[in-house]
Amino acid sequence: MKRKIEFYKHNVNSTDKKEVLSVLSSTFLTTGEIVSKFESDLSKYLGLAYSVGLTSCTEALFLSLKGLGISQNDEVITTPLSFIASANSIEYCRAKPVFVDVEEETGNINADLIEKAITKKTKAILVVHLYGQMCDMKRISKIAKKNNLKLIEDCAHCIEGERDKIRPGQVSDAACFSFYATKNITSGEGGAVSTNNKKLHDWLMKARQHGMSKNAIDRYSKRYEHYDMEFLGYKSNMTNIQASMLLNQLNRIDNLLSKKERIARIYNNGLAENKYIKSPQVLEETKHARHLYTIWVNPKIRDHVLQRLQNKGIGVAVNFRPIHLMKYYRNKYDYKKGDFPIAEIIGASTISLPFYPKLKKHEVDFIIKEVNLATRPKV
Ligand SMILES: *Cc1c(COP(=O)(O)O)cnc(C)c1O
Repeated sequence: MKRKIEFYKHNVNSTDKKEVLSVLSSTFLTTGEIVSKFESDLSKYLGLAYSVGLTSCTEALFLSLKGLGISQNDEVITTPLSFIASANSIEYCRAKPVFVDVEEETGNINADLIEKAITKKTKAILVVHLYGQMCDMKRISKIAKKNNLKLIEDCAHCIEGERDKIRPGQVSDAACFSFYATKNITSGEGGAVSTNNKKLHDWLMKARQHGMSKNAIDRYSKRYEHYDMEFLGYKSNMTNIQASMLLNQLNRIDNLLSKKERIARIYNNGLAENKYIKSPQVLEETKHARHLYTIWVNPKIRDHVLQRLQNKGIGVAVNFRPIHLMKYYRNKYDYKKGDFPIAEIIGASTISLPFYPKLKKHEVDFIIKEVNLATRPKV
């Protein structure tokens, strides 16, 4: 039998399924009490005042930028080493993503380079906590404050993280989360914004439902009242079905993380002797949300290693080839190879290995063996 190790398996268990079934047996499938419960649980987990459940992290990023006033001709400083959603959310506001290069050791945005990229048009900084390890929020939030810039966090990889006693959303204007199919907790698709900013929260609550003054749950749970439309909003509201899947996953999130910590240690040990692999640095005294387990290999052999691992039935991914070299961004802004050399090197080196709580020890051992074989030079 051919061995198959999936790149990702979700953690949806029987408790989660029961929650979903109970929503399905109820009258109210869309945004209602279960979404509110999830929002208050998420806020509590993060130590923040507010959360708003949405359809995706992409929407969370876009609506946060929009709600914080980012618009046409503004510039937003961000990292090229992320999923395209980070930069696309800026494009949706008709603003310009201004990339700065990343740190060689971690792949996170290089705080040293941010101030040099600030112009009169700069309105915000959008950071990404790559792989689950937080950026230097202490420094970046100071830069934002000093230059009167909004600060938005793409936390698609990082709900659980902490650095310098700072957690997502605590020193920024908005933290944006993803519950996409492969994320640490998932409802297939889904997202949220968490914030201490009441004004942003109130705007998001309306913006996710067309800018309506009353939403469906008000109309359902109270007597019918006419609604008005205050501004042109969107349709980005999380449903009770999605929220019901997430409630218990959020309760288990640190338990799931400790299982991933264990797997990370096995990988670290098994790959430690391999001098053909570089691993992103995991900073001490930080809580890494352990979303992806990524290795960096020589760009000359990267695609060969990807092929070999897949031939052995091992699921792999590349997180990420840099955004500035995607056709759309090259064409629109004339970005070219060499503009952000560190992001490019990492993008050409990177391989994400299977990494989830259900991964078995013998599977991790097999992956380690195959990675070591695939990266060893042929003599
Ligand atoms: C997955 C991901 C997103 C997008 O999340 P969606 O919920 O699919 O919109 C954004 N940024 C990063 C870094 C991601 O990995």
